[in-house]
Amino acid sequence: MSPRSALIHVDLDNLWSIAACYGLCLPAGSENGIYDDALPRLLGIFNEMEIPATFFAVGRDVELPDNAVKLRKAIVSGHEIASHSQTHPLNFRALSEREIDHEVEQGGKSIYHGTGQKPSGFRAPGYAVSQSLIRVLIRRGYHYDSSIMPSPYGFAFRWMDAWLRRGTTAGSGLRKTQFPYFCDALASLSPYRVNPNHPERELASSGLLEIPVAASPLLRLPFQAGVCLRLGRRYFEAQLSAFLKRPSLPLVFLLHGADAADFQACTDPFFRRAPVFSLPFADRIGKIRIYLERIRSNYDCLTTMDFVRRIKT
Ligand SMILES: [Zn+2]
Repeated sequence: MSPRSALIHVDLDNLWSIAACYGLCLPAGSENGIYDDALPRLLGIFNEMEIPATFFAVGRDVELPDNAVKLRKAIVSGHEIASHSQTHPLNFRALSEREIDHEVEQGGKSIYHGTGQKPSGFRAPGYAVSQSLIRVLIRRGYHYDSSIMPSPYGFAFRWMDAWLRRGTTAGSGLRKTQFPYFCDALASLSPYRVNPNHPERELASSGLLEIPVAASPLLRLPFQAGVCLRLGRRYFEAQLSAFLKRPSLPLVFLLHGADAADFQACTDPFFRRAPVFSLPFADRIGKIRIYLERIRSNYDCLTTMDFVRRIKT
């Protein structure tokens, strides 16, 4: 067994949430496209490659019986379902602690009712870690949070987000809090017991593990499928090589369901200009397979809770 651990994470942001974020017009009936189209495809790839993954599901989606069936099948195949909130608010970091608690509670309940399993982990929409969130997750007995992206390049994501929303009213009147803040870049790249008063710092006695989304050693460049799809194979290999030089550092490689979705039926101009979605569908799938194969051949892939149990023993 390789001493290196990789956690393959998939955020199941559905098409309705992408449409809300960017003010899109979707073809009728396509709001659930990530569960109808991308999730079965990703599950097929993971199962074929024998890669256990962790899917972060939005509670509202799990309330649909067909979606819940797909997630139950994923669990039977050895994957883990974690929570990505109940409604995926775009202003998650600006919510009050009570509102965050409601999102965490309802998301957990929806996943439990739909899958029969209570989620052990959480990822905030838009990497929006906060003191309130950490306090809520500790109170509610979660084992891990995976919201922080310890990278100083949040501004680049925000710039891209604004560029994609130009000319629309999406998010107007809403203080969007997506993408890492600069202080998040001070956090460890390795999992750490998270201090509720300073989520970017460690507190040895804390009951909650923070599992940062991958940012590469030294330069802290974001290392996730969407960025690699856009920046190319050399970027992927450079970041992977930086990780491989740090064998004790687990790789938390994040995909989004939309990375593997076929947008052929979506005519909104957004899908022709968005950096990842505008790439040919077959190319994206081919590259995702290559990323997973490269990671699998260098790392021991496991679900997040299996990793948490492993480091506790
Ligand atoms: Zn999300």
